[in-house]
Amino acid sequence: MWKIIGHERVVEALRRSVEQGRVSHANLFTGPPMIGKATLAMNLAQALNCLGEERPCGECVQCRRIRESKHADVQVIRLGPGLDEDDDSHKAILTEQIEGLQQAAALQPFEGRAKVFIIEAAELMSAAAANRLLKTLEEPPATVYMVLLADDQRRLLPTVTSRCRVYELRPVPLETIETALTRDHAVDAPEARRLARLAEGRPGWALAAARDAAVLEDREEDLNEIVELVSQSDHQRLAVAARMANRFGRRRAEVGQWLGLLLQWWRDLLLVKGGRPEMAVNADRLETLEETAAELSLQAIADALRRVEEAADHLERNVNPRLALEVLMLHLPVAGQRQAALAPAG
Ligand SMILES: [Zn+2]
Repeated sequence: MWKIIGHERVVEALRRSVEQGRVSHANLFTGPPMIGKATLAMNLAQALNCLGEERPCGECVQCRRIRESKHADVQVIRLGPGLDEDDDSHKAILTEQIEGLQQAAALQPFEGRAKVFIIEAAELMSAAAANRLLKTLEEPPATVYMVLLADDQRRLLPTVTSRCRVYELRPVPLETIETALTRDHAVDAPEARRLARLAEGRPGWALAAARDAAVLEDREEDLNEIVELVSQSDHQRLAVAARMANRFGRRRAEVGQWLGLLLQWWRDLLLVKGGRPEMAVNADRLETLEETAAELSLQAIADALRRVEEAADHLERNVNPRLALEVLMLHLPVAGQRQAALAPAG
């Protein structure tokens, strides 16, 4: 049983290739954060090593050890840890990590049938590391399988993607997430509905929020700040930009989430302004959405949305994050108290 929420077509394709012994030795799973790429990669690693009838069975010693991250032949490669944030290398999967992978790949599997290397955030590979990896992608040893995970295929070198079989994970329907939460994870119905809506197609986020109340609390806190931005001074906004730029160096994913939330908020404003409030993700803040939308033109909201997308794009490509965030903050429209303060007296 493949244990993943949604993605039926991708699962079916992989299941069939496992059954026929035709799994590609170089795979690329793409899709937004927390959509299920790592879960799918783990399922594939299990399927390739499983001793059961229906692979992955989830119960044999191979499946269990892989799930518990104890399996010697399944290795996850993450962004180089502990690097200086002022140094450009902080964003790179280092050549040394790929060299280590290649040395391990040259050895026979130790406890299973297949060696599986999962490279998280593969778009962060430096060009040198990616070039180093090409050789393994081209002529992988018979027992070696590579699984690259990336938010966006376009961020990878074409020489890398062209050697991979690409599986694109798309947002999972709200109802699928909702059903999985109530049926398999004992979340009560109203809460499941709410989390599924806020997840915007990312089951991993919904599960994390269901398991840990802090996920929702952090989200609320970030959203409060985002809601206030329109009524803040340039000075206050620049302070937010500075804080986020600083965080970007160390906890990049958090800034990505924050920008995702900002994007969500402005998309909601556009929906409300366009007369589709029922489509808003932040339905519990409809009143605030309506107040803000009433003060802004459709054009101003659409422009803001485009600015947020641009900034997210710059950050993904590491184009001067601080500047990108400052430009964004200074270009968000003004509404609320600040608008009132700026208006001529009398
Ligand atoms: Zn098994």
